[in-house]
Amino acid sequence: VSQYDPVEVATVYIAMFAARLDDHAFWRPTPDGEAEGHWERARRPLTPEAALGGLRGDKPVSSYMEDAVGATHVGAVDFDTEDGYARGLEVAGVMARAGAYPMLERSRRGCHLWVVIDDQVPGQAMRLALRWWTGQANAHWARDPKVEILPKRLEQRGPDTVGSPLRMPMMPHPVAGRRWPLLRADGTRLGESVSATLLAVDQTPAGLVREAAERAPLPPDECRIPAWARPVAREPGDCVQVLEAAGVARAVPGRGCRCPLHDDRVASLSIARDGERVWCKSPSCVAYNNGRGLGADQLARALGELAAAPA
Ligand SMILES: [Zn+2]
Repeated sequence: VSQYDPVEVATVYIAMFAARLDDHAFWRPTPDGEAEGHWERARRPLTPEAALGGLRGDKPVSSYMEDAVGATHVGAVDFDTEDGYARGLEVAGVMARAGAYPMLERSRRGCHLWVVIDDQVPGQAMRLALRWWTGQANAHWARDPKVEILPKRLEQRGPDTVGSPLRMPMMPHPVAGRRWPLLRADGTRLGESVSATLLAVDQTPAGLVREAAERAPLPPDECRIPAWARPVAREPGDCVQVLEAAGVARAVPGRGCRCPLHDDRVASLSIARDGERVWCKSPSCVAYNNGRGLGADQLARALGELAAAPA
């Protein structure tokens, strides 16, 4: 931050890596030390002073990846696995070969991959493009819950919704306390200082993101409800049988189980007592179906489409 005015450097830094300028998040340690802490929404603008506090000191901040209307010029993939840096390098390689300029930052575990583009796109386009490139490197990574793609999908959008934050590049890790430099796709360092790094950042053409997003299949949890699922099918059928055939464990009539139609970590799927219908509690899931749920035939069809969908 030497030969330039620090506030100007921080202003450029914010413009580059934050999509939402009227808010940000700060690290709130847990007092009892049971868990380490969490990113808390600040509910105030992301100022150059706040950014400098993180870049120079030990008060890291996270930025939100979409503005209030859902547009963005920045995206990231958080590889939170032991081999995360190797994964990041592979995805960055795919992106670089497509003409993009991904940047990598190691983290305590794994790494963050950042991309800054030269125009705004809908957050969904950024997310789909990053998922497409991740899937091109390895189909399983695009579906791995430990590989988080940002911006995330928002159920609703408005002035009061912000989505998920990500620690801004070159900020110290709030728990590990150390920081890592931004790297090019080949693993070399962009610059020795923050200002040198900012000068070395190449913006990815937004057209590449739009193209990749168009090629990406919409993940099942982002699909609109297909026409065939809308009418309430009353034909009797055995949903338990269908679920068991799909490999769902502990499918019991009148009970809940893990929903196989979205990335479910709790038992979101309810099975009717007669076993002829299922409902998912997640409103974005095809098995929610506006509260109507699915009959056995519809469930089988939804599972078939999910299995046939490319990663
Ligand atoms: Zn579901």
